[in-house]
Amino acid sequence: MSDRKLTIGEKLSPGPGVRSLVITGARIVASAPSVATATETADARVADVVIVDGVVTDLTASEAPSDAQVIDADGLILLPGLVDLHTHLREPGREDAETICSGSRAAAVGGYTAILAMANTTPVTDTAEAAERILDLGRACGLVDVQPIGAVTHDLAGGQLAELGLMHRSRARVNVFSDDGRCVADARVMRRALEYIRSFGGVVSQHSQDPALAGPNACCHEGELSGRLGLPGWPAVAESVIIARDVQLARHTGSRVHVAHVSTAEGVDVIRWAKAQGIAVTAEVTPHHLALTTERLAGYDPVFKVNPPLRPIEDVQAVRAALADGTIDAVATDHAPHARHDKEHAFEDAAFGMLGLETALSVVASVMVEGGPCGWSDLARVMSSAPAGIAGLADHGRPIVPGEPANLVLVDPAAAITVDRSSSQSLSRNNPWHGEQFRAAVHTTILRGRVTAAEGAPAAC
Ligand SMILES: [Zn+2]
Repeated sequence: MSDRKLTIGEKLSPGPGVRSLVITGARIVASAPSVATATETADARVADVVIVDGVVTDLTASEAPSDAQVIDADGLILLPGLVDLHTHLREPGREDAETICSGSRAAAVGGYTAILAMANTTPVTDTAEAAERILDLGRACGLVDVQPIGAVTHDLAGGQLAELGLMHRSRARVNVFSDDGRCVADARVMRRALEYIRSFGGVVSQHSQDPALAGPNACCHEGELSGRLGLPGWPAVAESVIIARDVQLARHTGSRVHVAHVSTAEGVDVIRWAKAQGIAVTAEVTPHHLALTTERLAGYDPVFKVNPPLRPIEDVQAVRAALADGTIDAVATDHAPHARHDKEHAFEDAAFGMLGLETALSVVASVMVEGGPCGWSDLARVMSSAPAGIAGLADHGRPIVPGEPANLVLVDPAAAITVDRSSSQSLSRNNPWHGEQFRAAVHTTILRGRVTAAEGAPAAC
């Protein structure tokens, strides 16, 4: 091993020529196999990790190649790289809000090694060519594996099915399909989509929201606060009735459905029931639905306008409990960048959505690990191995053992950061966490042995 030593605080900038990396002294955390365990220390060990040509080796640090770069990770936690099932990248069509490259930089800074790009771009990702283009643009940037999600229906119109089979058989190997932003509201269309994708083991990620119940102008949770603020609201039942319908369709078709951004206690109840029946359903929750309540809307700040809306504390407590007990499988960001001229409006007129990639780990650690019911191994499960499994990404969310791809994230559990939206890698600034303080933060992200971000700074792409 050389004396090339990188310490915390020093910028890591390995070029393409760097073949090997040594991480010394990290606490290595494996994904918990199932639900929350209070015994995380039992499955964490302090060890050195040697990476050669993008793969974790069985070498000890003293045997590492002489040109190896060294990351002193004393006091840090090493997890499998994070995987986001739900990212909006806005390219093609709205490159002023986010490009595949700017979103990739934000993802790398946030600890992600793979993200799934939602299909609601302009044009929509509803053909094999469109999916391959997203894949290629992601590869050209190279900071994170960008896996396209295909639309369920042509142009997200809810009628004719998109090219599901062609997208799956393309180079992009699309396995997750979603009309997200819109619900696949027609039960017959949903049934046909589930039947079609069953043949290749695909999954539909559903934005569960009955448009007839929600109404065209809804912009917050329907309840006491919406009445007080005079804003039209969505009832919780608009979410749960679609989840109930879809799990029955999943059972009927023998196919797989994934509930995107579940936000209500009623929705959680349906998922818990369906899993008890053995129905093939999985679910995700966002960091903001785990941490923020409707009370944030009291100032009419459109940064807190999101779809599905922020919910009352009872729902927040229900989704936290469901994530801890395994009813909800994964955390997904629903990272939704918007240009200022789309977001900075009166509350009712502003666009829906908030940034999430750069802050997700800090928020989830704050709510679920520090004083919460989960350990770091549970965080690794819900933010890495479970989403990788749902999306069918074989090289992500893997155990940190010899022979596995080196897709990793180092976390500083005592970083003590204050979020500043002006330092974001995203092209947008709709960050609901601006000014908030968090204890844990991403330190270094590693994709196939290459450092893609270190302490808030992405590598060149
Ligand atoms: Zn959605």
